[in-house]
Amino acid sequence: MVRTSPSRPLDVEALFPEVAALRREAVRLHPRRGEPGPGESSLGGPVRWPRAEPWPHCTDQHPRTAYAPPRGAGPVPLVPVVQLLAADVPELPFPDGTDVLQVLWCPFDHEEGYAPRPQVYWWDGSRADLEPADPPRPDGAPHSYLPDPCVLHPERITEYPSWDLPDHLHDALEERFEQVEEETGWSYEYHLSVPDGTKAGGYPTWSQDPDWPHCPSCERRMDHLLSVGSAEFDGESWRTWLAVEDTPAAGTVWELPYDERRLIQSAADLMLGDMGSLHLFACPHCPDRPYAHRASA
Ligand SMILES: [Zn+2]
Ligand SMILES: [Zn+2]
Repeated sequence: MVRTSPSRPLDVEALFPEVAALRREAVRLHPRRGEPGPGESSLGGPVRWPRAEPWPHCTDQHPRTAYAPPRGAGPVPLVPVVQLLAADVPELPFPDGTDVLQVLWCPFDHEEGYAPRPQVYWWDGSRADLEPADPPRPDGAPHSYLPDPCVLHPERITEYPSWDLPDHLHDALEERFEQVEEETGWSYEYHLSVPDGTKAGGYPTWSQDPDWPHCPSCERRMDHLLSVGSAEFDGESWRTWLAVEDTPAAGTVWELPYDERRLIQSAADLMLGDMGSLHLFACPHCPDRPYAHRASA
């Protein structure tokens, strides 16, 4: 089944013409519990890996938070988090000769953002030596950082910047945002600009001041590659970002039994910070695609 975000209840570009030039396309991935195969796009699903390549491990020092590896544990095997095929999300900056993107992460807290640390891989899916991987499970990893297997439902949407609005535009628009919200009940930030959840491209859905990484090779600002989110909507944003197909025939999504709602709102059962996201960035200019990440709680 496809997933479709409802049309925006207001004409954003008519109300706020200043943001029209900053429009970007994003791909909401709408993970839902399922049994993805190793050759399919997925969140928390199995992946294929080159036969001769050792499975990657994390050897970082982990801070002693509640989400630390057991004492004395050795290198931590990474876990598959996202696999995207060019056939499903051609918008990604696949380096020449590749058509599979994988994000694996170490499922423990790291100094940087007190969050899992991701690693990005790009493969040519036609390589004859790619085989379904059977990586070891990391001991003692918190369930919050281990995504349950989900299939994806890519959906193209239009986004407008929220936290990424340039200061002069934010100052110019602030009063109009407030006025429209008073008159209509729709908030630019929560209902009209960017959705939470797992998505590719568009704007990162920051929950604090933007902190865009720059490429260590060419020094240009990186692009948003994808975000892995704890939830697709919250108690406010569901009003415009709950998919039409998931909208109950009677009552609201908040009246569904808890487990039923979680399968829509947070299907992979991840919890990053307090309903936060992990944002990945990549340099589209440098052929080896340098990348970086930010955690937003
Ligand atoms: Zn680690
Ligand atoms: Zn670069």
